[in-house]
Amino acid sequence: MLVRNGKQIEFSCEVFPPKRDDEMYDIFKTLDAIKELEPDFVSVTYGAGGSNSKKTSTIAAYIQNISDMRSLAHMTAVGMTGEKLQGMLDELSRKAVDMILVLRGDRPRNMSEEEFEQREYRYASSIIPEIKLFGDFKLFGACYPEKHPESPTVESDIAYLKNKVDLGVDELITQMFFDNNKFYTFMEELDKAGIKAPVHAGIMPITKVNQLGTSVSLSGSSVPTELSNLIAKYSEDPEGMKQAGIEYAIKQVNDLMNNGVYGIHLYSMNKSDVTKAIYDAIV
Ligand code: FAD
Repeated sequence: MLVRNGKQIEFSCEVFPPKRDDEMYDIFKTLDAIKELEPDFVSVTYGAGGSNSKKTSTIAAYIQNISDMRSLAHMTAVGMTGEKLQGMLDELSRKAVDMILVLRGDRPRNMSEEEFEQREYRYASSIIPEIKLFGDFKLFGACYPEKHPESPTVESDIAYLKNKVDLGVDELITQMFFDNNKFYTFMEELDKAGIKAPVHAGIMPITKVNQLGTSVSLSGSSVPTELSNLIAKYSEDPEGMKQAGIEYAIKQVNDLMNNGVYGIHLYSMNKSDVTKAIYDAIV
C-alpha cells in the first residue's frame, strides 16, 4: 500500500510465466524480490488461448502460499471449454487462489479465424456467471482508457464494460497508457456511465528501444512526443534508455498519485530491479 497526501493507494504488479520449464526458478527469484516491496497483490498472466495455464496456476499458488502475498490469476475465455473452466476453478480453489482477472483473450497464432469465431465463450463477461456459480472469487476485469482496439466507439466499449461490472467484476485494471490525460478523461467517462468499480492504472515502464513498438502495436496506446523523443535520443544507448524509461514511469505514477488514483499496477515484465527503482521513487 502506498500513501500520498494522506490517501492510501494500492500498489500491485504483473508477472508472466516463463516459456521454458527451467526458467521457473527465475520467476520465483523475481517474486522473492517483489515481496520486499509489499505489493497489495501480484497478477500472473495467462498464455494466449490457454497455453501455459498450468504455469499460471503454479506461479499464482507460489505467490499466495509461499511468498505470502495475494495473487491474481489471469484467465481468458478464448480457448476455454466448460469442462476446462470447471477444472481450472477447482485447481485455483484448491491452491487458495481466490482472485481472477477475467479476460476475453486474443486469437492465438495457432488458432484459425474460423475457430476463433466459433469459440464457446465469446467475451470476458461470458465466463463470469459460471465463475460466480462455482465459488466466491474476487473478480477483476480489463479496461481501456483509449478504448479496446476492436471497439467502434468509446461509448460502446464503456457500455460493455458496464455490463462486465454489473455481472460481477469488482475491480478494474487498465491497459497500459503513456498519457495520463487519456486516463483522466476515461475516469470521467466511467463516472458518467455510473461505473463505480475501483480502477488500477496500468503502467508499463519502457526500458528498451524496441519494447514500445511491440507494446503499442498490441495495445493501440498512443505515444506522447516526450516518450518518442526519449526513444529516438537513446536508440544507441541501452542503459540510458532504461534509466529514461524508469524516470518517465515515475513521473507518470507521481502525477497519478497526486491526482487521487485508486491503484498503481506496474507491468513489471518480470524485472524486479525496474519495479524496485520505481517503487523506491514513489513510496
Ligand atoms: P472483453 O471485455 O470481452 O471485450 C472485448 C471486446 O468486445 C471489446 O471491444 C468490447 O467492447 C467488446 N464486447 C464486450 N462484450 C461484448 C458483447 N456482449 N457484445 C459485443 N461486444 C462486446 N490477454 C491474454 O491472453 N492473457 C493475459 O493474461 C492478459 N492479461 C491482460 C491484462 C490486462 C490488464 C489487460 C488490459 C489485457 C490483458 N490481456 C491478456 C489482453 C486481452 O485479452 C485483450 O485485450 C482482449 O482483446 C480483450 O480482452 P477483454 O477481457 O478486455 O475483452
